[in-house]
Amino acid sequence: MRSLMSATILDGKALAARMRKTLADEVSELTEKHGRAPGLAVILVGSDPASQVYVRNKKSACANMGIESFSHDLPADTTQQHLLGLISELNASPKVDGILVQLPVPNHINPDSLIEAIDPGKDVDGFHPYNVGRLAARKPALRSCTPYGCMKLLEETGMDLHGKECIIVGASNIVGRPMALELLLAGSTVTISHKFTRNLCSHVERADIVVAAAGKQGLIKGEWIKPGATVIDVGIHRLEDGSLTGDVEFEAAAERAAWITPVPGGVGPMTITMLLANTVDAFKTHVGDA
Ligand code: NAD
Repeated sequence: MRSLMSATILDGKALAARMRKTLADEVSELTEKHGRAPGLAVILVGSDPASQVYVRNKKSACANMGIESFSHDLPADTTQQHLLGLISELNASPKVDGILVQLPVPNHINPDSLIEAIDPGKDVDGFHPYNVGRLAARKPALRSCTPYGCMKLLEETGMDLHGKECIIVGASNIVGRPMALELLLAGSTVTISHKFTRNLCSHVERADIVVAAAGKQGLIKGEWIKPGATVIDVGIHRLEDGSLTGDVEFEAAAERAAWITPVPGGVGPMTITMLLANTVDAFKTHVGDA
């Protein structure tokens, strides 16, 4: 079938590879200079298959660039108290620069209390209220990885973000809200939509930048996209044949957009890359090399 696509692909896989190469060189220099590698502690509670894959990918990305990872794979019945004790030990450990709790955690655990127990200087996911607050106050410290990765993708377009009309579709703590704060910091005019938003189409139609993060397959129709807009698709959905797709009708949107991220190969590789970048930044702060 003839493709009518006019958009340029924002290739997250290629950008992530370039950034990881630069980061690996930096890690190698820093390790030699300071006598230890940056360290990332990864806490996994239970045996959710998707979480196991995410954790495996994060650990192998660390290994590939010389970041040391410390695994804490714990049974599903681990208590909240035990986890808080572990986080306290990791906060105090001089070898640990970053602490990551893989979400979701089992129902008997309160994820917010775990996140809030992490030393904000080691919160490499950027979920701690301190780090979210820093971003809100225009003094970003450790930034939430997925929105941070989306900003790096937007940088690739070379566009000036000042005054751009943006619609964020989704308002979660880990994607939509921090994404809105990132774009606000960059001088864009931001609309945040969520499950109670009426007439989503009318918001998307006037947007120069669409960030789709509702977790609803194909929610954003191609015909809603303003010609020349930039479309960042954060959504990830696995189809029956095993392939992945996003929240945006890709083919139809690509006929109208100027720039678009694919799924897979768009935002996903950038999220892990920004986790690595945050770990290196946290290391530099800890060793006084920031
Ligand atoms: P979530 O379920 O926590 O939040 C979804 C948000 O979308 C909510 O704020 C909800 O109000 C909003 N929403 C639901 N229906 C809507 C509608 N019709 N119109 C507008 N808003 C609507 O999900 P999340 O954790 O933010 O993740 C969103 C998606 O992004 C998922 O598909 C997830 O798998 C994916 N994700 C991808 C990455 C990545 O690295 N690529 C990282 C995190 C999440």
